[in-house]
Amino acid sequence: MTAELILGKEVSQEIYGELEARIAALKEKGVTPGLGVVLVGEDPASQTYVRMKGKKCEELGMRSETVILPESTTQSELLAKVDELNNNPGIHGFLIQLPLPDHIDEQAVINAIDPSKDVDCFHPSNVGRMLIGDPDFMPATPAGVQQMLIRSGIETEGKHVVVVGRSNIVGKPMAAMMMQKAKGADSTVTVVHSRTKDIASYTREADILIVAIGKAGFITEDMVKKGAVVMDVGTNHIPDSSKKSGTRLVGDVDFEKVKEKASAITPVPGGVGPMTICMLMVNTVHAAEMADKKRCNQ
Ligand code: NAP
Repeated sequence: MTAELILGKEVSQEIYGELEARIAALKEKGVTPGLGVVLVGEDPASQTYVRMKGKKCEELGMRSETVILPESTTQSELLAKVDELNNNPGIHGFLIQLPLPDHIDEQAVINAIDPSKDVDCFHPSNVGRMLIGDPDFMPATPAGVQQMLIRSGIETEGKHVVVVGRSNIVGKPMAAMMMQKAKGADSTVTVVHSRTKDIASYTREADILIVAIGKAGFITEDMVKKGAVVMDVGTNHIPDSSKKSGTRLVGDVDFEKVKEKASAITPVPGGVGPMTICMLMVNTVHAAEMADKKRCNQ
């Protein structure tokens, strides 16, 4: 058996198609959804992500504002920028590109973002609302994984979902989302991490295995149940002398072997990757819709 491939490009195109209509409706009311992105320092990967976000806004006819600050930016300078964006009516949502330089308290900066503009869904108030099943925003990467499951017609209700990894960005919100009483959820969830003993004994029990640890090829064929759905969030650059860059991108799953055992799987690249920006755009449009509704009710 070779697994069905779940491709983020296809799923995201479907979602972008739906977003275009929502953006057009806002524009008819004179509202252009605006996304702000703040980058501190010169991390090359972060620069690429920031460029991609701006380009996607442009493609969708949305406004984007990129703020690039030097590595030496102080915490109070960054907080002042957050305050400015909180009060900018043309920016409906914004995010601070992580990671931040070590001298800045990341959580303090996240806490300063107006929750109604927190399109990364990192603010504790939005995390809490997501946890209780009353979200304004959904965290982009886990929401992308969930949309891939829903739109590929994969049943999640009553299924055993095993999440490998417990970061605040992927693992924890992913687990919280899949246990909700909701469409694309209603699952029984197990979370495993670096302190779990005998990880394979859990992953082998998964109907849906979601992996986000950042270790190339960590999930091998013997760790996967036959017919499982495998969602690989990991992105790892490994040496490859045949490539001009000298590296190639792989996931946390041994794709070639596992695809022969799984019923459906996301490749890396081309799987979960394109979904993160897509769900960020969904959150930004939602933020603009919320701001417009609030304005109309005033
Ligand atoms: P992270 O913050 O480094 O967290 C990694 C998690 O994996 C931690 O919970 C850690 O456990 C766990 N872990 C590490 N080694 C492990 C091991 N040997 N066995 C079991 N668990 C282990 O990473 P992240 O931000 O969640 O990202 C995870 C991966 O997803 C990375 O490759 C990242 O690049 C990728 N990612 C991709 C996208 C996308 O758009 N496709 C978005 C976000 C992240 P402890 O908590 O015990 O340390």
